[in-house]
Amino acid sequence: MDLLSTLVDKGLRLEPPTRAEALAVLATSDDELLDVVAAAGKVRRAWFGRRVKLNYLVNLKSGLCPEDCSYCSQRLGSQAGILKYTWLKPDEALAAANAGVAGGARRVCLVASGRGPTDRDVERVSETIAAIRDEHGAGVEVCACLGLLSPGQAARLRTAGADAYNHNLNTSEATYEDICTTHDYADRADTVRQAREGGLSPCSGLIAGMGESDEDLVDVAFALRELDVDSVPVNFLIPFEGTPLAGQWDLTPQRALRILAMVRFVCQNTEVRVAGGREVHLRTLQPLALHVANSIFLGDYLTSEGQPGRADLEMIADAGFEVEGAVAEPPAGDGTAGDGTAGDGTARANTARESAEVPVAVRRRGAGTELPPNA
Ligand code: SF4
Repeated sequence: MDLLSTLVDKGLRLEPPTRAEALAVLATSDDELLDVVAAAGKVRRAWFGRRVKLNYLVNLKSGLCPEDCSYCSQRLGSQAGILKYTWLKPDEALAAANAGVAGGARRVCLVASGRGPTDRDVERVSETIAAIRDEHGAGVEVCACLGLLSPGQAARLRTAGADAYNHNLNTSEATYEDICTTHDYADRADTVRQAREGGLSPCSGLIAGMGESDEDLVDVAFALRELDVDSVPVNFLIPFEGTPLAGQWDLTPQRALRILAMVRFVCQNTEVRVAGGREVHLRTLQPLALHVANSIFLGDYLTSEGQPGRADLEMIADAGFEVEGAVAEPPAGDGTAGDGTAGDGTARANTARESAEVPVAVRRRGAGTELPPNA
């Protein structure tokens, strides 16, 4: 049986692939790309049908982080010209969340920069969770992403009404110290475990395009499987100017699809989400990613702008998929706002993007601003 048939077979039986098989997916050629996507699509459809889950990010506190994660525009010493603000009030966060829910999101992700929350921070976020619960009941999932957890905090968030907690492993244990010196891989894995033990659904993912090897990507995918997380966001590095990884445009759309497929074959029945960097790295191949992943973020990211929420919904419909949960009407608006990330329209799908091209569009709307959010 050839590689892809074996991986589909294992995916349908929930038998893990071998490391060699996962590495072989990353080594496939562009000629084989559609076969890889089709095979991953069989596993995706077996567990998630044609549903796409929409998630919506609300950045509760932006920038000014004391940690030094090299990929992050909010890191210590970042010169990226991002929005910087402290905690949103519950009504401000609710207004942002409402926009995402109106756009079709079924999970709201409440994110704050920082090493980890104080107990007072957990209280603040609990107030925001309560406000979202009051407004939307059980129809919307709430995920918190507040950094490294201390004992007892996960349970308090659960009691407040949170459903899930996100904390990404980001890369392999072997290379973690290359991307961050202020905390380590074990700290991150420990927080994912604490989330589960506190009754929260663990969400943890990776960032591709930071100079890692295929082995690193396979390591982190298997580590996430081992941690038994419920959802895996796959980020593609957005190399902000003013951060150590500025100018690191390593990924091609084809490579991004192979990475997503590898994650699907390893984390077979786990929610796989195309996360940050979708527009800038997959570009015109974004719809193919829906055949592999079953979840995306709607609208903007934490500190950069995504494509208009309307374009996300149209892409899902055009590709023959359906939004999970109640299918929302496309949000009002002309659908043209803020599209600074989808490339310049020239044919260059098989090349890594060059830093001199269209710069990353720093988010200037939504949470923390006077302007309406993109959803
Ligand atoms: S990833 Fe989180 S902890 Fe690391 S610098 Fe960014 S906001 Fe801080």
